[in-house]
Amino acid sequence: MSKTALITGVTGQDGSYLAELLLGKGYTVHGLVRRSSSFNTERIDHIYQGPQTFERRLILHHADLSDGVALVNLLREVNPDEVYNLGAQSHVRVSFDAPLYTGDVTGLGALRLLEAIRASGVPARVYQASSSEMFGAAPPPQHEGTPFHPRSPYGCAKVFSYWSTVNYREAYGMFAVNGILFNHESPRRGETFVTRKITRAVARIRAGLQDKLYLGNLDAVRDWGYAPEYVEAMWRMLQREVPDDYVVATGDAARVRDFLAEAFAAADLEWTDHVRFDPKYERPSEVDALIGDAGKARETLGWEPRVRWRELAHLMVAADITALEDELSGARVRVDR
Ligand code: NDP
Ligand code: GDP
Repeated sequence: MSKTALITGVTGQDGSYLAELLLGKGYTVHGLVRRSSSFNTERIDHIYQGPQTFERRLILHHADLSDGVALVNLLREVNPDEVYNLGAQSHVRVSFDAPLYTGDVTGLGALRLLEAIRASGVPARVYQASSSEMFGAAPPPQHEGTPFHPRSPYGCAKVFSYWSTVNYREAYGMFAVNGILFNHESPRRGETFVTRKITRAVARIRAGLQDKLYLGNLDAVRDWGYAPEYVEAMWRMLQREVPDDYVVATGDAARVRDFLAEAFAAADLEWTDHVRFDPKYERPSEVDALIGDAGKARETLGWEPRVRWRELAHLMVAADITALEDELSGARVRVDR
């Protein structure tokens, strides 16, 4: 019997890779899409199946993590075997500007979904997208036993959703797990996260469309992995016999300035000629260093990272150069609905 999954955040970086992975495994995938005034399905256009498609296995539904009733109705309708809660206001800097909204969607949204699963009586397994940002000021290397010390409204909201997930597991015996994922990137990463902001700028500077790139703190250390590998870890967590929480990371870290130098060098550019500081991109409280210890995921899930940050910088620059060339030549055409 093929399985059914529900993904919140299916239009995001991870949601799009996870949908591909699950479709490849024969799942029927339902995705929660929020209403937007412009198209927000670009990352899943290549796998989109319209309502008229025969035996379609990717089905999109309008709902929102702020609407608990819609979540209950959706769960009853879809009756999924697995639920992946990837939906969130996921940007740390933005969470300082919109702290209550972030708390509502990223924190309370996860609780709404857990409660909707309980209320609807659907016996689904649940994956919660927890984050290394929960560790915040705790010194590296961080692992499953490291105490949380979040440094942003986003980090605080993720701590709330983490403990809500643990609580539903303990209180109701729900198969609910937290994947504590360290930063993971790809050509589909949001354009305002630092890696993608850098690799897009490299492509544009190389093409003569831009000269300067404005950034904030270049000394922060991050453990950057490759998103398609990380969604595989999510799926493996839900295939275990017993629910548990896992750190997913490469264990290999670099400063923002190291990633910057690598990305510019990939296009034969010197970053110091183009990068300027703008305090606008600093955070009121910063997370200085995140380096994960994913020993438990390696031993229990058999999960191993392959792509490290240097290779990641090169593949993201190459993808942004190709995407820009396609855009300039008119080869990139939007899929219409
Ligand atoms: P993205 O920002 O790319 O995607 C977030 C998704 O959430 C989008 O589909 C977005 O929709 C959706 N969303 C936002 N607000 C709502 C809402 N109110 N109701 C329903 N859906 C909503 O994030 P990633 O794919 O990078 O990350 C996936 C998850 O993993 C997130 O929860 C993130 O916080 C977490 N995480 C990510 C890490 C990373 O390095 N990428 C690290 C650790 C955790 P829309 O497309 O319309 O904006
Ligand atoms: P985060 O780790 O989830 O906050 O991921 P980001 O990619 O947003 O930021 C990673 C690090 O890059 C943080 O320490 C930021 O302070 C730093 N950084 C420096 N300049 C920028 C910038 O212009 N944009 C973003 N998003 N981050 C920046």
